[in-house]
Amino acid sequence: MSPSDSNAPFADLQDRTDAPVEVWNADGAGEVIVLCEHASNHIPQRYGDLGLTAAHRNSHTVWDPGARAVSLALAKALDCPMIASRVSRLVYDCNRPPEAPSAMPSRSEVIEVPGNRALDQAARDERVQSVYRPFCEAVTQLIMARQHAGRQPVLVTVHSFTPVYHGTTRAVEIGILHDDDSRLADAMLDEAAALPHRQIERNSPYGPEDGVTHSLQLHGQRNGIANVMLEIRNDLLADPEAEQTMAEEVLTLLRPALDRLEAATPATTAPARQGGSSDA
Ligand SMILES: [Zn+2]
Repeated sequence: MSPSDSNAPFADLQDRTDAPVEVWNADGAGEVIVLCEHASNHIPQRYGDLGLTAAHRNSHTVWDPGARAVSLALAKALDCPMIASRVSRLVYDCNRPPEAPSAMPSRSEVIEVPGNRALDQAARDERVQSVYRPFCEAVTQLIMARQHAGRQPVLVTVHSFTPVYHGTTRAVEIGILHDDDSRLADAMLDEAAALPHRQIERNSPYGPEDGVTHSLQLHGQRNGIANVMLEIRNDLLADPEAEQTMAEEVLTLLRPALDRLEAATPATTAPARQGGSSDA
């Protein structure tokens, strides 16, 4: 496969809104690959409404509000690809391995998910095959195609979190998360003084101990590519203007961090950690 053919498998996914994964700008010149596992609140018809109440149907439990908009803004600014799930995290959480209970949670924070109770193995397998595998395969194919072409991908995964969790208010506004490979997170945190009005914290409001670094481990560390997970408080993503402002703030940290990473050597691989429970 020549480099010019390397993105051919994505042509279908770019345009098909019924596909479980969205791949935007696969041919982008930038080396970053933006992931958005919790981009969508869509629950495919075959799963009904999972037994959710109307009030919970669009809550942060179902998706990460604003995360796709920030992901897309970053991808546009960096001329790089974005890969986003088109299915709700409550059907399958693409940032969890299939063996993690939180991959198809029957309870998330204070919300019950009746449609996920007593799932048998066949039902679990169907969701793995129809939601998780296509997402992972899209990411893997893009990374492999770029590495094959001698390029050095960098992984940035974008999430949002609720300002109040289990009744506790969170002060952190931007979380910079990492697992064993902290190169990109360290470089971004070194730039935090450029946003003095923001509360920016390392591995907050979640960290690797919460099982939220599955994508970083699987697609970043195992491939030896620099990676970071961004968590943005969702009250700061209330409308399109706010989403764009936040994307620009993230770029204030990310652009100089990427510049400093260019000469970095690949990280060693690390074993995957079992996914835990959180709303990350
Ligand atoms: Zn998330």
